[in-house]
Amino acid sequence: MERTVVRCAEGHLFSTASFPMQNLRPARIGPGRLMRCPQCARLRSAVPADLAVLSTEQITQALRREAVAPLA
Ligand SMILES: [Zn+2]
Repeated sequence: MERTVVRCAEGHLFSTASFPMQNLRPARIGPGRLMRCPQCARLRSAVPADLAVLSTEQITQALRREAVAPLA
């Protein structure tokens, strides 16, 4: 399954399979979506990360940390 690399409000990178990308366009990335950040260990507002500004290593590490959206 395709996964999306996202960034929490604290700047941590992780990934999720459940981010509703079809509702997001670059021009209107709003306040994000509440997800449980694996590093914060609490709910954070997360937005899709811009892969163009991330290194391959950052992306690889983010894909290893998968979060799930609460109350799916
Ligand atoms: Zn975090």
